[in-house]
Amino acid sequence: MKRNRKTKILATLGPASNSEDMIRKLFEAGVDIFRLNFSHGSHEDHKQALETIRKIESEQKHAIGILADMQGPKLRIGKFKDGSIKLEKGQKFRFDSDPADGDETRVCLPHPEVISTLSKGSRILLDDGKVHFEIQKKGKGYLEGIITAGSKLSDKKGFNVPGTILPIPALTEKDKTDLKAALKMGVDWIAQSFVQKPEDVIEAKKLIKGRAALMAKIEKPSALIQLEEIIEHVDGIMLARGDLGVEIPPENVPSVQKDVIKMVREKGKPVVVATQMLESMITNPQPTRAEASDVATAVYDGTDCVMLSAETAAGDYPVLAVEIMDRIARKTEEDDDYLDMMEASRPDALNTPSDAITTAAYYVAQDVEAVMIVNYTNSGATSLRTARQRPEVPILCLTPHLEVARKLTLSYGVHTVHDKADPEDFTGPARHAAKIAVSNGFAKKGDRFIMTAGLPFGVKGSTNILRIAKVEKE
Ligand code: PGA
Ligand code: MN
Repeated sequence: MKRNRKTKILATLGPASNSEDMIRKLFEAGVDIFRLNFSHGSHEDHKQALETIRKIESEQKHAIGILADMQGPKLRIGKFKDGSIKLEKGQKFRFDSDPADGDETRVCLPHPEVISTLSKGSRILLDDGKVHFEIQKKGKGYLEGIITAGSKLSDKKGFNVPGTILPIPALTEKDKTDLKAALKMGVDWIAQSFVQKPEDVIEAKKLIKGRAALMAKIEKPSALIQLEEIIEHVDGIMLARGDLGVEIPPENVPSVQKDVIKMVREKGKPVVVATQMLESMITNPQPTRAEASDVATAVYDGTDCVMLSAETAAGDYPVLAVEIMDRIARKTEEDDDYLDMMEASRPDALNTPSDAITTAAYYVAQDVEAVMIVNYTNSGATSLRTARQRPEVPILCLTPHLEVARKLTLSYGVHTVHDKADPEDFTGPARHAAKIAVSNGFAKKGDRFIMTAGLPFGVKGSTNILRIAKVEKE
């Protein structure tokens, strides 16, 4: 299954797409990696979806990634006597620790540690930013203040405090149970929600113990402040624009997106742009022009991957949403400006053998008009360093480890073939790579390609060879 696209597609599964037939259609339409959203659905549902994906993977002989997304510590208010209230701009309101049902004057905030952290002047946003509140007075166990933007407010709505680091655990009890279940099922990636600081991801990593790769979801302004250190500790980043767009002004999201993609690419790790990309396709068979433009912008920004949420999980047109995303990404990548932009934004190489080889591969591939760059890699590290360059030609990654192949499904331009062959000398590997490239539709007789490898074979972290090779026969 060769994709004519370098930007990857991550699609969320849900009631609209959980069946075997739908998962197969979504894969055929272009999904590279699936998201199991642990905010919804039972462990049994997720396990079933995972088994279906694995079945399709072996049937298609093409690695498919699976990411389990943890709900994280999302704060919520309590309930109201009548289910909801109406709040007007300028009225007084109060959040307190009293578990009794709320009314027009107050509601419970069942997080006493959050009440004690906040202070006069802080702003609270409710229900995805529809209601704004400013704290004027803080007492023992309560916050009093004024509604600065009003709307209807109903039971259990979300509670955001932009710009404050809250003393809440990085992983809730539910997250810990979900994490255990996801690892037992054998997912490839774990996504951690509402990361605030590097310690949060360090804690998750301790529990994961290398059994899956870790992705930090950036949806709190505090995470942006310490982003560099957070990236150091994780394997990938998701720019979770849904919650982030509540916590920071919407006009800041586009420039933050550019900065985050640039920083994560610089570190040689994959980055995903998520949420509302084709939102209107939840109910419409075509996207708005603005949505098409949003997907294209993420591609022009050089993202590794774009994500679909409710569009595929609960929408009316899951397969069509993937097909359209695929078409927008391909069209954008064909643009000459796009190639110039990828070239102009190439980060500096590190002084390591791996970077020396992958940088050389990038230039040599251009000079000899190679059709692809082949990486023989054990850990996948060479393909991550190659992807960081955003080469014009596809990266064919040959690895003996299926887990590595699955993890790389997120990464820019990487097509991984799980390949157990253990070539012994260096004429063998080129012929072997050529054979795989031809059978996967990446090359034909007479084509040149670039190959990187490490001698001796099979030793991790030993990439030290660059070779220009030719496909001798089909
Ligand atoms: P969610 O994360 O869909 O789990 O909320 C993505 C986001 O917040 O953008
Ligand atoms: Mn979120």
